[in-house]
Amino acid sequence: MTALKQALEGVKTVVILGHVHPDGDCIGACLGLYNYLETAYPEIKADLYLEDRNERFSYLKNFDKIQTVPADRIYDLCVCLDASDRERLGEFTVLLDRAVSSLCVDHHVTNTRYAKENVIEEQASSCCEVLYCQMDEMFITRETGECLYTGMIHDTGVFKHSNTSGRTMMIAGKLMDKGIDFGKIIDDSFYRKTYVQNQILGRALLESIVFLHGKCIFSAIRAKDMDFYGVTSKDLDGIVDQLRVTEGVECAIFMYETGVQEYKISLRSNSYLDVSKIAQYFGGGGHVRAAGCTMSGSLHDVVNNLSAQIEKQLENKPCITE
Ligand code: AMP
Ligand code: MN
Ligand code: MN
Repeated sequence: MTALKQALEGVKTVVILGHVHPDGDCIGACLGLYNYLETAYPEIKADLYLEDRNERFSYLKNFDKIQTVPADRIYDLCVCLDASDRERLGEFTVLLDRAVSSLCVDHHVTNTRYAKENVIEEQASSCCEVLYCQMDEMFITRETGECLYTGMIHDTGVFKHSNTSGRTMMIAGKLMDKGIDFGKIIDDSFYRKTYVQNQILGRALLESIVFLHGKCIFSAIRAKDMDFYGVTSKDLDGIVDQLRVTEGVECAIFMYETGVQEYKISLRSNSYLDVSKIAQYFGGGGHVRAAGCTMSGSLHDVVNNLSAQIEKQLENKPCITE
């Protein structure tokens, strides 16, 4: 019996939570579970809370059921998805604390095992991949498949990051067999950009700076630039991935201003730098090749502090070939 099946035994009410700034994997996993419960456990009343609803994912079934304000309720079971620590649940942590029981399904190497039961698979491409393995195949509908597939393409960069395995592809194949329109899902949710999203991407690339002998690249977007283009943080997805594929670069850093002297940092590496360690050092977390954190100080200080940690890791890797 899977941990999910066990956790759902005798349960009447479930609350589903994800992480702050929910991404494709987070939203895909949360709605995937919501839709799965509707099919496999029609007697269970489930609620789903996320910090915001990114319209990019509005094609997913029950997207309109996502609630953004925590209710004053006690649930039998709280399921936390794609969130590596309690703080990542944001203002919804209260719902976890109040719940009778809890289950965390995740794939972050930095996961702190904060729920009563934890299913953490660090090798998995995505939370959706871990979640799929917890589900009973016969109750996975096309709509649930669309959610899980969405999560998988977002965390693997459409099956190209090093977290993509044979199992990932096998599951993707099973989901394709459910009749999902995979081409449309990939285009609409991953590649399509609005005009202003393209403009801000262009601006970030134009102003990017390489350092540490071309091994690192960074770019920063200030709040006033975001106001100028009329974009929010959701419009900045993918910028760090474009920086990462700059020839010769091992580590890409993208940051945007979230407050006075406060920046949200995204880190990516290509082959040997462990960015989860760097993010964790600054109070964040993530994966070996993709991680994030929030840092305070001037832009200059933030870049210098990150650079020092990156340099330290590079120094401790004497066998790296140029
Ligand atoms: P991002 O750069 O925001 O796309 O995040 C890359 C990866 O790091 C994702 O798996 C995030 O869940 C994780 N991550 C980002 N920011 C944080 C943070 N502050 N704390 C823990 N994990 C994070
Ligand atoms: Mn995520
Ligand atoms: Mn994920």
